Amino acid sequence: MEKVPEFFGCLVFDDRVMKANLSSEVYQSLKKTIDQGAKLDLSVANAVASAMKDWAVEHGATHFTHWFQPLTGITAEKHDSFITPSPDGGVIMEFSGKELIKGEPDASSFPSGGLRATFEARGYTAWDPTSYAFIKGKTLCIPTAFCSYGGEALDKKTPLLRSMEALNRQALRILKLFGNDEVKYVHTSVGPEQEYFLVPKELYDKRPDLIYTGRTLFGARPPKGQEMDDHYFGVIKPRVEAYMEDLDNELWKLGIYAKTKHNEVAPAQHELAPIYQTTNIATDHNQLTMEMMQKVAARHGLVCLLHEKPFAGVNGSGKHNNWSIATDTGVNLLTPGETPHENAQFLLFLCAVIKAVDDYQDLLRIAVATAGNDHRLGANEAPPAVVSMFLGDELTAILESIENDTAYNATKKKTMKLGVDVLPKFPRDTTDRNRTSPFAFTGNKFEFRMLGSSNSIACANIMLNSAVAESLKIYADRLENVEDFETALHEMIKKTIKDHKRIIFNGNGYDDTWIKEATENRGLLNYRTTPDCMPHILDEKNVKMLTSHGVFSEAELHSRCEIMLENYCKTVVIEANTMVDMARREILPAVEGYAFEIAGAAAAKKSVDADIPCTYERELLKKLSVLTDQIAHRTDELDEAVMKVKSLADVEDEAYGIRDTVLSKMCELRAVADEAETVTAEKYWPFPTYGELLFGVR
Ligand code: ADP
Ligand code: MG
Repeated sequence: MEKVPEFFGCLVFDDRVMKANLSSEVYQSLKKTIDQGAKLDLSVANAVASAMKDWAVEHGATHFTHWFQPLTGITAEKHDSFITPSPDGGVIMEFSGKELIKGEPDASSFPSGGLRATFEARGYTAWDPTSYAFIKGKTLCIPTAFCSYGGEALDKKTPLLRSMEALNRQALRILKLFGNDEVKYVHTSVGPEQEYFLVPKELYDKRPDLIYTGRTLFGARPPKGQEMDDHYFGVIKPRVEAYMEDLDNELWKLGIYAKTKHNEVAPAQHELAPIYQTTNIATDHNQLTMEMMQKVAARHGLVCLLHEKPFAGVNGSGKHNNWSIATDTGVNLLTPGETPHENAQFLLFLCAVIKAVDDYQDLLRIAVATAGNDHRLGANEAPPAVVSMFLGDELTAILESIENDTAYNATKKKTMKLGVDVLPKFPRDTTDRNRTSPFAFTGNKFEFRMLGSSNSIACANIMLNSAVAESLKIYADRLENVEDFETALHEMIKKTIKDHKRIIFNGNGYDDTWIKEATENRGLLNYRTTPDCMPHILDEKNVKMLTSHGVFSEAELHSRCEIMLENYCKTVVIEANTMVDMARREILPAVEGYAFEIAGAAAAKKSVDADIPCTYERELLKKLSVLTDQIAHRTDELDEAVMKVKSLADVEDEAYGIRDTVLSKMCELRAVADEAETVTAEKYWPFPTYGELLFGVR
């Protein structure tokens, strides 16, 4: 077995490979493009493409693809082989700079939310040289952005790159004010912790709900769930261990820094976290990680479920987006400093995030809104739908002292004057213990915990980067021309704290009293569902902010809103249709079959001796009949509700209809079907049970 450092990144056209395979001029020129976004000329592109192809062919690749992230939320690829006919009837392997830089997949089947109607139908993919090309199977994958011919983004990467650039622009202005002239660029980093479930493939194959929707739509509670708390960080079963090992190896080959793995709270639930990376690359890597999780599972006779809520009554899966801002000189701007000067800078960036999260709570909520995630947020297993921030007691005390010009430490009577005082040393540990906050400061980074497990992390980071860029812009506009920088800075930070302290909450986010306090006293937003929040992406303040930083055009925002609502509707309608199908074609016949057997047993007994009372059979039959009637009736009702919303012309109306009728009809049907499961003989029940699914991997 090869050692990890020897094979790490072996499938990646990374810096090491570039240095070894490109002439020094070409390498320097490409490096300039990667680091500074300099334009690449065609001769350089040709040289890079040729080296990439040689390297890929050497590693067994026959095809290349522009790998992109359309608004479906997953990745897309169309494979082209390298073959080019040669005059002698054979082929040679070729790949040009033009093919590397730009591709033209047929865009018409990807969601465009109206952009297609107004602009050209075709789209193009454009190479993102900041994310390394890699080999998957026999294909060289080139990370690309995906746009319409009018330049409108049809993907998640384009606005993400724009948001990183927006934050870079504004952060550099701020750093200049603090005399940091040597910093060339500022980027955000992300480490996404990814949760998932593993279930046996042979059981999965018997559940149409898992196959069509990724989650169970029926299923009575098993005798044992997660109540014993014996799974979290528990000993990993050998079969899961083998899976994780295989997964780590695959990810390492792809240059992904898979670092931590452990069992999660629910049975059959696990987590993987990589070491953090530049946001753009972290996003690509997270998409690849999710793909590999599913691929590797198949090799082990398992299925990896990435749905936010695969099992009712059992914790769902999320993703923690650990986020920080750093300079190219290696300074994390969210690390409390050692000197008064560094402190002031830290507090300014901290305040920029506080202001951003408060001003754009809605955008953060929107960024994580999907039909699947609606089941988790606020269900006492994940943060509520109300966005708030955890800073920890020490930092909160310091902010209070700045706000009120009072001592932050009653015994030592110390006050904080920006630019004069140093921050007290507070142990980082104490800032990391609140697990219920949607947005927690954890010592030198923020952890945004509302993301669903299947979400692309792009959306959350687009909104976060843009909102923080906006705070920084407002600060820079104010500070760039003042005479007394320190006083102005102090006043500005004070004002931020005063205006935005309502977003800070260090208590238990799962507590109902908090929701009351947050919404009634503090005026924080509580968008429970996707249709509640999504249309607010078009609120004037949001459009203004996102367009002013060049992250989205107004047309792009309209298209995204429509696509997200469409996704929501389609997801729930598929679920509802699956339920109707399962109920009519499998559950009802199963319960009837069992009733028939019981009736037969009673008749047989009676034929032997008419005086046998058959009380058990009689009672059970009555119960089964009532349940089948109810299942049949509620199935019809659900079917009707779906047809009704489907007939609505407007996607927003359809989404509201789903929220208000379809989802509750689904719950009603499920309740009676699950009850039927508990009284129907096991051999009749058509689907593997929750118990089998959750405890089936041994
Ligand atoms: P936990 O939240 O479970 O305590 P860790 O503190 O180990 O876990 O970190 C979780 C994730 O945060 C990891 O992916 C890690 O690489 C990432 N992380 C650590 N430091 C930073 C940082 N400065 N910026 C962004 N992510 C970070
Ligand atoms: Mg964490």
